[in-house]
Amino acid sequence: MAQSTKTQTENRPTPTIEDYLAIMYVMERDGDEVIAARLAESLEVSPPTVTVTLKRMERDGWIASDQGKDIRLTPKGCEAAGTVIRRHMLTEWMLARMLKVPWSRLHAEADQIEHTISDEIETQMRTNLDDPQLCPHGNPLPGYEHVAADWHPLTGVQPGQKVIIRRIHETAEDNPELLVFLETNGIVPGALAEVSEVLSFNQTLSLQVGSQKVALGLLTAKYIFVEKVS
Ligand SMILES: [Zn+2]
Repeated sequence: MAQSTKTQTENRPTPTIEDYLAIMYVMERDGDEVIAARLAESLEVSPPTVTVTLKRMERDGWIASDQGKDIRLTPKGCEAAGTVIRRHMLTEWMLARMLKVPWSRLHAEADQIEHTISDEIETQMRTNLDDPQLCPHGNPLPGYEHVAADWHPLTGVQPGQKVIIRRIHETAEDNPELLVFLETNGIVPGALAEVSEVLSFNQTLSLQVGSQKVALGLLTAKYIFVEKVS
């Protein structure tokens, strides 16, 4: 059975390379410099492993660099990154809608499946899921970045401001414990909340969500994007 899909996947990056491409895409999208040390941290691999993999990726035309510095995706790398991110996000929706997988589990489950989806299945997923522009965590599918452009990190919100939770950034999606915490406390896209207190000296803020008051570290709050409401 494995053989029959070989032709279709021949030009496709390996799952490892797809993971690298997806992280680099998010870094470039957010205007962050792509640095090997940050890749090592995000992918939980050693810096020498990253160096070797980046060399291979450059050889294969997924990325370009100036002697290992100023790393950037090539158009081919950017397209492949967009594809795997889109498949990841569509998978999250499929798991949520069809299998009722809890919100906090979607990302980790989709991480396994995203590498196995073919062009045909992706097309069917898009149609069946009504062409979503955001993932269940509120992150934009590639090409829909403008949808999230007016949402701001919770860290920039003044006390007393009412907000709608819109987006939990991809970086936070990689932290399963944090996702469970957010889900348990109702801090999910669409929820109404109010910043009740900001304690800068303590690096925390309090968020009123429904009848609950939740304390968040500013390091976490910066990955929660909201829309202000009057
Ligand atoms: Zn997501």
